[in-house]
Amino acid sequence: MAIVTPVDTPPGARRRLALANPATLEPIGEIEVRTAEDVRAAVETARKAQLDWSALSFDDRARVMRRVLQILLERQDEFIDVVLAETGKTRGEALAMEIFAVCDSLNYYAKNASKILKTRKLKLHGMMRLLKQVRIAYRPLGVVGVIAPWNGPLVLAMNPTIQALMAGNAVILKPSEVTPLSALMVAELFEQAGLPDGLFQVLTGDGETGAALTRAGVDKISFTGSVETGRKVAVACAEQLIPCSLELGGKDAMIVCADSDLDNAAGGAVAGSFMNTGQYCCGTERIYVDASIAEAFTDKVVDRVSKLRQGAEGEFDIGAIFWPEQLAVIEDHMADARAKGAKVLCGGRRNPELEGLFYEPTVITDVDHDMKIMREETFGPILAIMPVRDEEHAIQLANDSKYGLGGNVWTRDKQHGIEIAQRMETGSVCVNDMTMTYGVQEAPFGGHKNSGVGQVNGETGLRGYCHAEPIIVDRFGGKQTAKMYPASRKDDDGMQKFMRLLWGSSLGRRLG
Ligand code: NAD
Repeated sequence: MAIVTPVDTPPGARRRLALANPATLEPIGEIEVRTAEDVRAAVETARKAQLDWSALSFDDRARVMRRVLQILLERQDEFIDVVLAETGKTRGEALAMEIFAVCDSLNYYAKNASKILKTRKLKLHGMMRLLKQVRIAYRPLGVVGVIAPWNGPLVLAMNPTIQALMAGNAVILKPSEVTPLSALMVAELFEQAGLPDGLFQVLTGDGETGAALTRAGVDKISFTGSVETGRKVAVACAEQLIPCSLELGGKDAMIVCADSDLDNAAGGAVAGSFMNTGQYCCGTERIYVDASIAEAFTDKVVDRVSKLRQGAEGEFDIGAIFWPEQLAVIEDHMADARAKGAKVLCGGRRNPELEGLFYEPTVITDVDHDMKIMREETFGPILAIMPVRDEEHAIQLANDSKYGLGGNVWTRDKQHGIEIAQRMETGSVCVNDMTMTYGVQEAPFGGHKNSGVGQVNGETGLRGYCHAEPIIVDRFGGKQTAKMYPASRKDDDGMQKFMRLLWGSSLGRRLG
């Protein structure tokens, strides 16, 4: 049973896909796969709408975002129901990871975009300061294509959209074919809030629609998804010389130091590995624990995991796998780990009590870096523990990965935790917390190595939806430049003398 299945359509008609709820396997709707022609038409409409939108003040744009926020607060239960139906995640996760995070993003960018993007003066160095003034103006790029994955259907669609819109762009969103219904509700939400027609459009479809969007003449692609697709998006953008941000997969490491608070660390390991049923780009997928505390830590983890309640539509801790392809990856990684000697302490199979796509919360140990479970992104409810000799060993293993998205360190010594964090080759690190950087609006978020290119969120992310245009103004009305010709030997000599004076002495270098 697939969660997304092709529907028979008459020749010449757009393809259609039927969707099912991964927790109950019941049908929940159908979508059209929008064509390259649809995408081009959408970009044309968006470009026209963007002209008026970019002329509005930040206050005017912020007013729309605040209306979106109010409507989302009022209609949150409807949104939660749609997210639950298409993902099978738990209600609490839909509330915290999707609704809360989007509300925070709406409020943050509505409040701060004007500060971050207002034209600012740059302080120049040395002589240049006496001659020129520089302002940086942040100009919108135009039309931004947002391509989203299925693991956070609301937050990963809305967060980049909010930022791109606040920066003055139009947005075309291509949601995942696995979870398009939340995105269609987002379109309704923006419409209800009075966003001008055509400024934000949702084009449903699969990879074909996504690929068409990357080649439809947009000015930037903001992509979140797998490494494999990210690479294709990067090639398409490179060929057209347009920028892209790529938020890709991860294999986050957790380092548990000998001095850590074991209860907190065990709780952090469980939260980090099982949030969103482990289908979280910054999910904790590898745990390196100091050998001296490994047994006690593992016992605490297993105790917590065996008490987790799994199910949908009710009060549960852990939900479903969102689509069958991911379940196949999880089962493959577990089979490989078992074959190579991993020990399963709990879970380790599909939940036999539940009809939908449920995999039991699993704890394994006796793992090593020859196993897929320690090298490839598993994206499932698996908590893998590997004892290490000491912190050096832990850091070395944490860095032994082609990924580098997030990571976390647990120790009672905060400063030491920060020192370890700085040695981890990864996009962001949390000390005594599961990796929750994406939820901190101010923190730039992005990956190292195969985990991505560029950063989203905060000042860096918001400015990434703009072209930073330096405007240089001569303090003397152009007098110096006007005197440039005719060239003379005397002027050259004067310049050489000046250079020796400026950079030939330590005082000069300080002033220069
Ligand atoms: P995916 O790459 O299969 O699909 C992502 C999106 O790309 C979908 O909308 C899909 O339809 C579209 N797409 C497919 N082929 C395309 C093409 N050729 N050109 C353009 N678009 C195309 O990823 P997924 O399975 O939906 O998402 C899971 C992955 O996303 C995991 O690897 C996860 O780690 C990653 N992810 C990363 C972050 C982050 O912020 N770094 C956040 C969430 C998820």
